[in-house]
Amino acid sequence: MTTLPLRRALLWWLLACALGGALLGYFALRDLQERFLQDSSIAHRLLSQKTVQHDAVLTTLAQLDNAPPTARLLAGLQPALPQLAAIGRLRADHWQGEAAMPAGLPTAVQQAQRQQRPQLLAADRQRYWLVDGSGWSLLIDARRLLGDGDWPPALGRISLALPGGELALLARQPTPAPWGWPLGIDKTLAAASQPFAFHSRRILTPAEWPWGRWLALATVLALLLAVLRARLQARRQRRQAEEQARLANLNRLGTLGEMAAGIAHELNQPLTAILANVRAAERMLDDEDERATVRQALQTSAAQARRAADIVGRLRAMVTQPGGGGSAVLDPQPLLDSLLTLRHDELAARKIALSWHNASPDARVQAEAVALEQILHNLVQNAADALGSRGGHIRLQGEALGKRYWLTVSDDGPGIAPEVLPRLFQPFFTTRAGGMGLGLSLSETLAHGMHGQLTAANLPAGGACFTLSLPLATENHA
Ligand code: ADP
Repeated sequence: MTTLPLRRALLWWLLACALGGALLGYFALRDLQERFLQDSSIAHRLLSQKTVQHDAVLTTLAQLDNAPPTARLLAGLQPALPQLAAIGRLRADHWQGEAAMPAGLPTAVQQAQRQQRPQLLAADRQRYWLVDGSGWSLLIDARRLLGDGDWPPALGRISLALPGGELALLARQPTPAPWGWPLGIDKTLAAASQPFAFHSRRILTPAEWPWGRWLALATVLALLLAVLRARLQARRQRRQAEEQARLANLNRLGTLGEMAAGIAHELNQPLTAILANVRAAERMLDDEDERATVRQALQTSAAQARRAADIVGRLRAMVTQPGGGGSAVLDPQPLLDSLLTLRHDELAARKIALSWHNASPDARVQAEAVALEQILHNLVQNAADALGSRGGHIRLQGEALGKRYWLTVSDDGPGIAPEVLPRLFQPFFTTRAGGMGLGLSLSETLAHGMHGQLTAANLPAGGACFTLSLPLATENHA
């Protein structure tokens, strides 16, 4: 992952919140459920203990020989058993008790004797009679089985299925039940004589859900994602900066490479010429008659070497003082004369004639001598390359027209193919096997540096024609 867009971060956040929230909700629910089950069991146990006590009271009463009056008995038992509403006894068909004799009591007594277990008789919705075989009977008020403060906290609604019907003992949650997560447990009271169904119900309402923890989780996750996002962004920016630095280095290397190629291109011609001249001079050295030719060859070599030095000097000037080596008011004539001298022998050996005609001998141009020389040498070299071994004619012409001086280099070679013409000045474009494709692009750059222009065309009679236009020297330029 390199970046985290805002929308994806939000999606991740939602997903993490949903998963984490579900987990938190699950644990919170489990916790509440456990507490509910525990408290329901406590309530069940307490109710069971109370009802078991009733059996014990009846057993004790049955064993009494001289039982006190029921009013005294009731008064003595009520502090410990507040649910006792009345005590009564059926003895020899005579009822004595704190309440009216319930209907069906004699039958219940007989049944209790038969089953050897107290029997139940409904009194009303919240009270029931527990009838012993001995005739002793207890009227129990189920509502008072547990005091208000005795109920454990995690309960909702508790009800008991009494003989008189279902009775709500606790109603902490209203009916109809509120909306939420329902919990419930059903048991039977442990007393064998009073096996009432015990129902505990509770709804976990939204108010009890773990909102606080959910909010904390959402906040922590949002913070974590924000930190992660910021880190990823910082890393991306750092990488971009590194990449830019790398590209800048590559560019520099590229420029250096181009420059090296350019130097190689420009120096190739003078160095080849020097080598050729020196070899020729060496061959003719011992021949007295060739002394003049040797001198000429050495002079040409020296001039080419100077030119090579000038090219290097110009490049150095370009590097150390961007903007170029300085232009001056120039007479093209001597420059062209020198070029002709320098190239004559070499071209003649290849059966190539080189001619120069200046139609405006008085014209002066605003130019840089070394750069102009380089351009012309490149154009002459290209023309010679185009003519190849079959020889031909290279014409150099100069003429002032308008505010510019027009120098043309034309040849009677094969000309330039139409598809080549638009790419001619692109660096590294070449159609020659050993060519570097830098001569024309360098020449164009040099021309622009002198406010000049270099164009190429084919002559109607065949052959290529390159035109270099330079500004004429005026008062302003001078
Ligand atoms: P190079 O000479 O190394 O090929 P240049 O930039 O000097 O590179 O020339 C680019 C191309 O332009 C040459 O390969 C050639 O196809 C074409 N060209 C240049 N001068 C001439 C010419 N006088 N006649 C025909 N084609 C030429």
